[in-house]
Amino acid sequence: MKLIDKQVVSLNNLIVKLKKKKCPPEGLLILFPHCLQNTQCKQNIKNDLSECKRCGKCKVKNLMELSEKYGVSIAVASGGRLALERVKAEDVQGVVAIACEKELRIGIMASLPKAVIAVPNLRPHGFCKDTDVYLDEVEKAVERFVK
Ligand code: SF4
Repeated sequence: MKLIDKQVVSLNNLIVKLKKKKCPPEGLLILFPHCLQNTQCKQNIKNDLSECKRCGKCKVKNLMELSEKYGVSIAVASGGRLALERVKAEDVQGVVAIACEKELRIGIMASLPKAVIAVPNLRPHGFCKDTDVYLDEVEKAVERFVK
């Protein structure tokens, strides 16, 4: 991971927090990468998130529960261009984005001036495979926008 990616993510998060940007729950989007889905899972969540059976083998279940708890939108970032289109949609006022630092840096720059709180993922099996995330970090980011 390049130091510059980490620095851009940290600086961006600091700026968004200092600006105290708020938005209604319906204006907030949680965006997570497809590599968070357990690789053994056959559900086509890329196509439709409701395909997730919420078996608990990966954090997709928890993120969906979090989106319901706060009434915020949630989407899988299945490709750079599609993810950006979703982020740039008029109804999206704030984004909590989960990804590796490089993807977060690229996403943050491309989404400007939209407010994005970036949550770096965990990679116990390396990049792009069975990734993970600290749920409390995601929840804290959601609360920064909606509370
Ligand atoms: S929680 Fe279970 S059903 Fe849902 S995406 Fe993860 S492994 Fe698949």
